[in-house]
Amino acid sequence: MRYISTRGKAPVLSFDEAMLTGLARDGGLYLPETVPTMTHDEIAALAGVSYEEAVFRVIWPFLGGALGDEAETREIIAKAYAGFGHVARAPLKQLADNHFLLELFHGPTLAFKDFAMQLIGQMFQAVLKKTGQRVTIVGATSGDTGSAAIEAFAGLDNVDVFILFPHGRVSEVQRRQMTTPDAANVHALALDGDFDDCQAKLKDMFNDFTFRDEVGLAGVNSINFARVLAQIVYYFTSAVALGAPHRKVSFCVPTGNFGDIFAGFLAKQMGLPIEQLIIATNQNDILHRCMESGAYAKQGVTPSISPSMDIEVSSNFERALWWAYGKDGEAVAALMDELQQGGFNVSANAMGALTQTYTSGRASEAETRAEIARVLAESNELICPHTACGTHVARQHLGETPVITLATAHPAKFPAAVEEASGVHAPLPKRMADLYDKPERVTRVENDLAALETLIRERRVS
Ligand SMILES: *Cc1c(COP(=O)(O)O)cnc(C)c1O
Repeated sequence: MRYISTRGKAPVLSFDEAMLTGLARDGGLYLPETVPTMTHDEIAALAGVSYEEAVFRVIWPFLGGALGDEAETREIIAKAYAGFGHVARAPLKQLADNHFLLELFHGPTLAFKDFAMQLIGQMFQAVLKKTGQRVTIVGATSGDTGSAAIEAFAGLDNVDVFILFPHGRVSEVQRRQMTTPDAANVHALALDGDFDDCQAKLKDMFNDFTFRDEVGLAGVNSINFARVLAQIVYYFTSAVALGAPHRKVSFCVPTGNFGDIFAGFLAKQMGLPIEQLIIATNQNDILHRCMESGAYAKQGVTPSISPSMDIEVSSNFERALWWAYGKDGEAVAALMDELQQGGFNVSANAMGALTQTYTSGRASEAETRAEIARVLAESNELICPHTACGTHVARQHLGETPVITLATAHPAKFPAAVEEASGVHAPLPKRMADLYDKPERVTRVENDLAALETLIRERRVS
């Protein structure tokens, strides 16, 4: 299996190389040259198997043996999901007629990011062990990626992890999950800026090839194809639970960086009968506006009660554009140049391709709060604000095809917003009840590339 860049000018890589690299050297994102498919019977045979077995069957064709033989690969998968607090890993619940909730928050940091991060922690460890390489992982987070990465890589061999998060703009639980692990190889950095600033600094570090090669820079943001790959699996398991491949399903995905919903697109390419992928945004609705008008235009980010979706440079949207533009790397590179100037217009043809699969909606702050209260009253489920954006938008798309809304975080991760909306306090699961008692370890950093690079050079174990 060969991996190529969305901008067409970076080296073609194997799975493990693409995983260790993260961002392609031409600024693009890696994707498999051809997407493997599953037959109707293979999809049907996923019914009733363990989550780990489904992971193995879905990801195996993408790996090209990068993690070893079948037994070694299964062992890596088993380790990745052993720390989850629910034996089903991704249980499905019914909210209303034809509306279902896929709970993706039973991992160690209570958000869906754990599904990919726990797996790529184990994958990095396996691949680095073989080559004897040491890497420095730098990640930018709006909250949940960072805690998932720190939790997944803490104490692992051959890796240092530095996580940039926007100072003062993550929830207390998110911050504590990043600042309380005490392994020497993980470092939480609070940057003076917003999430897009964190993401921009990360891109600058990857584009500084001297620094990149010196520290062995690796990325685990959702641009990393290995993360997208891990997220394909729960689209299959949940759709099969509702009768796929004999019946179509749609998914509604609370969206920021477009990684999670893009995994759904790949599931569809692999043969899963998905009717619609519904992009749910909060008030930072650049993706919804783009789907309505064809114009991807930056307006600035306004902090919301669903902070993991407070984004306007939605990195993985580039992968969707690449497909929509008929895999034309030059066209994608030109759009991304325009984005630096503030935005771009998607061509009519490409909009036609996007709207074949995707549709969209937005939830304002008031709608998000009202939705948390409504779902509690009508379905007796307490949901987080991100999930509430999803269920709010999903309700506008309910029809004959069942809709599965992805519950992307546990309500206890955002207790203040949930309590204000519903009057109910969401307690942390027992296994993490000591989070508020542990000491915090964090470094405040200015929004400056040279200062960041110096800090990383000094802190990493070399
Ligand atoms: C990361 C995150 C999202 C957005 O997912 P993307 O893959 O970035 O679109 C939504 N909800 C929660 C809770 C998240 O952590």
